[in-house]
Amino acid sequence: MRERRCPDCGVGLRAVELVTSEGFSTKVRTGEKREGWLGKLGVGETRDVETFACPECGLLRQYVDPDF
Ligand SMILES: [Zn+2]
Repeated sequence: MRERRCPDCGVGLRAVELVTSEGFSTKVRTGEKREGWLGKLGVGETRDVETFACPECGLLRQYVDPDF
């Protein structure tokens, strides 16, 4: 996995787990035709989301794997 950096602080982001209060992990869902990787998703399909946090400012960034 390539390193993610905070756009504000320039420091490396740490992988974290973002879950709901019920403990479910978050996923991304699209319901319409999109460009790029979003276009590969069918209606109602979901993808796992990777969440990263900046240890300096607390920024959270989320990514899905565009190559699947
Ligand atoms: Zn930061």
